[in-house]
Amino acid sequence: MTGSRAKVRNRQARATALVEVLHRTYPDAHCELDFTNPLELLVATILSAQCTDKRVNIVTKDLFRRCRTARDYAEIAQEELERLIQSTGFFRAKAKNIRACCAALVAHHGGTVPRTMEALTQLAGVGRKTANVVLGNAFDENVGVVVDTHVARLSQRLGLTRETTPEKIEQNLMVLIPRAQWTLFSHWLIWHGRRRCTARKPDCPGCEVALLCPSAGKFQ
Ligand code: SF4
Repeated sequence: MTGSRAKVRNRQARATALVEVLHRTYPDAHCELDFTNPLELLVATILSAQCTDKRVNIVTKDLFRRCRTARDYAEIAQEELERLIQSTGFFRAKAKNIRACCAALVAHHGGTVPRTMEALTQLAGVGRKTANVVLGNAFDENVGVVVDTHVARLSQRLGLTRETTPEKIEQNLMVLIPRAQWTLFSHWLIWHGRRRCTARKPDCPGCEVALLCPSAGKFQ
């Protein structure tokens, strides 16, 4: 067997074992943004760029009371929306995108959130990552793998990819991880990245997947 084939086999074996251990470690992993319907999750995910889920959840408590439908977002004044979401950062661009996105929902989708990657990524402020979050968590559709900063960092540390762009990392993960687990897998990595394998100070001695991790101990 050539070296590169052996590496691919190792990578696949590691991914399969990781799915098992992470599932056991985080049986309750879920999206940490609060939402009760696809529209709320779409808006919360747009707000979560460069912001913590905790802060988004504080902001959406009032926001979701003020705006209940896509038309509400399309018709709210830019200034009022900016005021409501200010503390999430980049609030001017986010307010503009949310209003434009929801205007398109009203104009082209009867005010509802579409369930396809193609339609979602045509909306203002919605890239592949946001679309994957909505499809996976609001519609239970595994269309891709959410690659945020935690998923990117952990996929590299765990030796699942050598790529650096979210698009290419996602392509690698879609080959290694069974489709039924694409949404859960990104939750597991996000939870592990927040609780154990942080960017600055990974806790390798206490890590549940250390035996599977080629980076174990490299940071001590
Ligand atoms: S062993 Fe260390 S680097 Fe590897 S996943 Fe665990 S905490 Fe992260």
